[in-house]
Amino acid sequence: MSREVASDVVVVGAGVSGLLTSLKLAQVGLRVTLVERSSTIAPAASSRNEGWLHAGTYHASAIADPHEAVQVARKCLYGYHQIRNLAPESLEWSNGLAIALVTEPVRSEQAEGRWEEAQVRFRRVRPRDVEPALPNVDLSRAVCAYLVQDVGIDIRLLYRRLLTEALRSGVSIELDSEFHFVSDTVGECVRRHDGAVSRLRYRRAVLAAGHEINRLSTQLGCPVPLRLWKSHILYGPQLVDRPVFWLDPLEVAIVNHTPSVSVVGMTTDAIEVEKADFEVEPSRIALVQEAMRRTIVGEHGDRFTAYACIKVDMRSGRVPLSVNSEIRRLSSAVYCVSPGKLTEAPFVADRVVHQICDELLDGRIPARPWDQAR
Ligand SMILES: Cc1cc2nc3c(=O)[nH]c(=O)nc-3n(C[C@H](O)[C@H](O)[C@H](O)COP(=O)(O)OP(=O)(O)OC[C@H]3O[C@@H](n4cnc5c(N)ncnc54)[C@H](O)[C@@H]3O)c2cc1C
Repeated sequence: MSREVASDVVVVGAGVSGLLTSLKLAQVGLRVTLVERSSTIAPAASSRNEGWLHAGTYHASAIADPHEAVQVARKCLYGYHQIRNLAPESLEWSNGLAIALVTEPVRSEQAEGRWEEAQVRFRRVRPRDVEPALPNVDLSRAVCAYLVQDVGIDIRLLYRRLLTEALRSGVSIELDSEFHFVSDTVGECVRRHDGAVSRLRYRRAVLAAGHEINRLSTQLGCPVPLRLWKSHILYGPQLVDRPVFWLDPLEVAIVNHTPSVSVVGMTTDAIEVEKADFEVEPSRIALVQEAMRRTIVGEHGDRFTAYACIKVDMRSGRVPLSVNSEIRRLSSAVYCVSPGKLTEAPFVADRVVHQICDELLDGRIPARPWDQAR
């Protein structure tokens, strides 16, 4: 016989998005069940990323559409401040502010305009002013350098904090349990190691299932188009004293993590793929290595190890990858969310909490005049 579990909200997926959403829903008094297929939390994109806590700097410059660029930068800043406050211990220590570099004056002008609009903090300096901080970086192509607020984050500490706070706030967490829909207010989760089945009844569900959103939304009869994008990353011994990245496409972004590791990604390197796997494609890694050679003086390639990760967006067609966050309503009871970036997850979680609290009213809280008019 299956176990029956009743909740106000079921959240599917314990990546950064599901963890934050569950925590916030529980903190406003809702009974939350969080279901995760793996036996650990955040096994997928949330733990295989580069670990930047973005301060809006890069995306404000890199996204083609100026309106979207500024919006994404603002959402990053929203999450940046929240995560810093929520888990200050998770910030990686650095010998100074991160440095953003740019090769073209026109890109620099555009970035500064957008940063000002989005209230991204930056200080323009001459490339030669940052030479002492970046002794092994080839700055000959840089026309401009900026001191910026982006930092590395130890995601294990962030998730440790989120897990602790979620449990303390009463979130019931079902690990090693695969969720599927029976209807839009009833689901089943099957424990993977022994096949035990729980029947979940809920008033709202939030799909925070990363690349599985498409499969789950199809089960519900309202498929969400999802594109999968693979990126490649290298990690190895620490290369630089301070995080550094180019605003230009196909150049490196280098962030340090404890203990003495540098993680090297490449700007705009993601390729669209059919299947969500983490297999490394050697030709793509060669591109990251070349970009690394253009920036870092000396030969380091053979000391670095490659891995791949999948990000998703909810767009279709030939438009480029969108790193914007998305919230979709699939039925009167089901939402699905994708943060675009770890840094945007607080923004997405807060928007969903607003929406759900607006619908699942607490009779002890008075309505505002305009609520009564609805
Ligand atoms: C290469 C790369 C680098 C990145 N670097 C950064 C960065 O430096 N900074 C930044 O801010 N962002 C970065 N990102 C983006 C960030 O990692 C993702 O936006 C974020 O992790 C997505 O989180 P999520 O919770 O939506 O998804 P996921 O982490 O994919 O979590 C989804 C969860 O749902 C679970 N699940 C799926 N189906 C089911 C089911 N049926 N039942 C139960 N559980 C289920 C999965 O097991 C998984 O744990 C990067 C992404 C990539 C690919």
